[in-house]
Amino acid sequence: MSVASGIPDFRSSNGLYATLEATKLTATPEQIERIQSDPSYSLDQHLFMENPLPCLEVNREFILGVRERRWKATLAHRFVECLRTKVKNKEGEGKLVRLYTQNIDGLEDQCEGIGHERRIAVHGSMDEAECATCGARMDFDLFCGMVKSQIKDITGRDPSAPAHSTPIVCESCGAATVKPSIVLFRSRLPEVFFENVPNDVKDIDLLLILGTSLAVAPANSLVMRIPRSSMRVLMNREPVGWHLGLDYDSNDRDYFAQGNCENLALDFMESLGWLEDLKPLLDQGEFPESSATLLREHLERLKKQKLEGQAQKQFQSEIQPQDQPQASTLELKGQEQNNFQSEIQPQDQPQASILELNGQAQNQFQSEIQPQDQPQASTLENRS
Ligand SMILES: [Zn+2]
Repeated sequence: MSVASGIPDFRSSNGLYATLEATKLTATPEQIERIQSDPSYSLDQHLFMENPLPCLEVNREFILGVRERRWKATLAHRFVECLRTKVKNKEGEGKLVRLYTQNIDGLEDQCEGIGHERRIAVHGSMDEAECATCGARMDFDLFCGMVKSQIKDITGRDPSAPAHSTPIVCESCGAATVKPSIVLFRSRLPEVFFENVPNDVKDIDLLLILGTSLAVAPANSLVMRIPRSSMRVLMNREPVGWHLGLDYDSNDRDYFAQGNCENLALDFMESLGWLEDLKPLLDQGEFPESSATLLREHLERLKKQKLEGQAQKQFQSEIQPQDQPQASTLELKGQEQNNFQSEIQPQDQPQASILELNGQAQNQFQSEIQPQDQPQASTLENRS
C-alpha cells in the first residue's frame, strides 16, 4: 500500500537492509559481524536490550522522515479512508470496522477520516515511541528531537547529526531503551491485535485485502476468522492466500482484483464515483508524486469525456429536425446511450482490475459497499 509513497522498505534491492553499512553502526565487532550476515538482526529484540544504538541508527532517517511527513499517504490509503467516510450505516456511522495494517510507516494516520483508533498496526508503528523495558510511551515529538540530537546519521546526509550516538533514556524507568513502537524481531506482537480481532470479525460482511503476500501471521489469520457468509476481495498483483482457504476459482465468496494497489484503488473509486472527492487533497499537494500524476490523468480524462459527451449531445439536438419520423429518434436514443456508456466507461483505460471481476461479482461488490438503504442519488449529493 505504501510503495507509491516512495518510502524506503526494508527488504527490496535498494531497501534499508541491502544498503546497510554495518561497520558504521555503534556496536561491538561480534554484533557488527552478525548484522553483516543478517541485516534484520539490527532490529532484534535481544540485541536492542543489549545495545539499543544499531536499531536507532538504522531507523534514524525513517523516524525523522515520518515526523516531517516526508512521505505522503497514497491512493490506496485514501480508498480506505473513503470506505469509512463515504459508506455509512443507518446511524450515519462509517461502515469501515477496522484497518489492520502490517505496515509500520504510520501513513494511514495522515488520513484523518480513518481515525487513529480505527487503525491497528499489527507490527507496530514508526510514528509513536515507547520504552522496551517498562512500556511507557514517550511523546513522539520529544523522541524525534532526541533521535535528531543524540543518534548519529549513518547515511551521512544530515550535517546537524552528532558524530557519536548516545542512547535515549526512559523518563519513567530510567532504562536507555526508548525506541519507535515497532515490533522488533523475537518480541511479542501488540496486545491490541488480540484484544480487538474477536469482536471486529463477528459481524463483518466484507473483508478487503490489499497488497500483501498473506504469508505473515497473525494478520493473515483474519481471512479465516471472519464469518463464512462474508465476502473476501483480494486487491493484489498475484492471487495469494490459497493456503488459507481462499479460492478465487470455485468459492463464490472470494474475488481477486489483479493489479497494483494504486491502480486498483483508482479503479474502484472511479466506479464508485468518489474520485472528485480527492480533488482538494490533490490541489493541496497531499499525494505522493506518482499517485498525483495518476489521479490527475484520470480526472482530466473523465472531464474530457464529459465535455465531449455534452458537445455531441448539443450538436445532435441542433441538427435534429423537429418533425423527423419516429424511427430516427430511436436511432438517436441508441447513439445517446453509447455516448453515455463511453462517458462512464473510459475506452482507453488501463486494464482495469475491477473489470476482471465478472458482472455479477462487481454488482455484488458494489452493493456490499454501497449502503443498501440509500438511493444512488444521495451518494452523488454527498459529493458536491
Ligand atoms: Zn521505561
